[in-house]
Amino acid sequence: DGVVLGLDVGGTKLAAGVVSRDGRVRAFTTVPTDAADGPVKVIARLCTLAREVLAVAGLSPADLTAVGICCCGPLDARTGMVHDPPNLPGWGDVPLADLVAADLGVRTWVENDATAATVGEWRHGAGRGVRDLVYFTISTGVGGGVVIDGRVLRGGSGNGGELGHTLLVADGRPCGCGARGCLEAYVSGTAIAARARERIEDGGGSTLAALTDIGAADVARAARAGDPLASAVWQETTDLLGGALAGYVNLFEPRLVVLGGGVARSGDQLLVPVRDRARALAMRPAADVVDVRPAQLAEKAGVVGAAAVAFERAADEG
Ligand code: BGC
Ligand code: ZN
Repeated sequence: DGVVLGLDVGGTKLAAGVVSRDGRVRAFTTVPTDAADGPVKVIARLCTLAREVLAVAGLSPADLTAVGICCCGPLDARTGMVHDPPNLPGWGDVPLADLVAADLGVRTWVENDATAATVGEWRHGAGRGVRDLVYFTISTGVGGGVVIDGRVLRGGSGNGGELGHTLLVADGRPCGCGARGCLEAYVSGTAIAARARERIEDGGGSTLAALTDIGAADVARAARAGDPLASAVWQETTDLLGGALAGYVNLFEPRLVVLGGGVARSGDQLLVPVRDRARALAMRPAADVVDVRPAQLAEKAGVVGAAAVAFERAADEG
């Protein structure tokens, strides 16, 4: 029934998976992105990774129906170009779909990484059977995706649903997108760690001060252990995310909000306070019926979603 290669280009890691039409992942692998190597080297590495994962499944590029790639935005899903994504610093404009199609010899489509993960969770994960849902990935950046009335929101060129770049704090922290005060500037993994570091530099005492390199997972762990500085950073994180989420609940009236990405792996420590705050702040009746659940596809969401998108586009094209 055909197989598709799903590729995921993130700020931190590259992933490749061989995916069947029913969403089953037949082989999967990841490597660090090392974005500073620049687009030419990274895309060559991505294509090598693609051939390796195909070989694990006993396949070659000639066996593929299509390739779907998801990448952090901004990008143009119509042309397959990525346009200088802040999470891939210095890349400029890159014809991602064309470069991969030329290397592998297979027709290729590009989608925003969070939009792809939304499709993955909707078709094959936590959102199966739901008509209205909002998805968040909280990782290097904060990505978003929206399904309303059973349709994926893409906007004019595939950059719709950039929920991480909604203004949350007037004149707030600088964001990679060039604006200030975006949700991403507060609650991405990068931002959570930076906020903890800044409090320590300002003289705050914390068990985290002993670490040479603080990550969001360290902040979560220290907060669980009762560290006051880490607990304050964590509460600020869940307050802000819950508040932003209340706005999206009012905007879209989703039945379900799915939380994915590395930071969401903190589980109930994130999910419960975020859900409670969103329900407390959003308007009724939307607030009463919205459910908040963890993503199910974990690190495979991007490749499963990119593959689902490629199956759809290949079918549209015939
Ligand atoms: C980008 C999004 C992306 C998200 C997660 C954000 O900074 O603007 O396009 O989905 O990071 O990678
Ligand atoms: Zn921003």
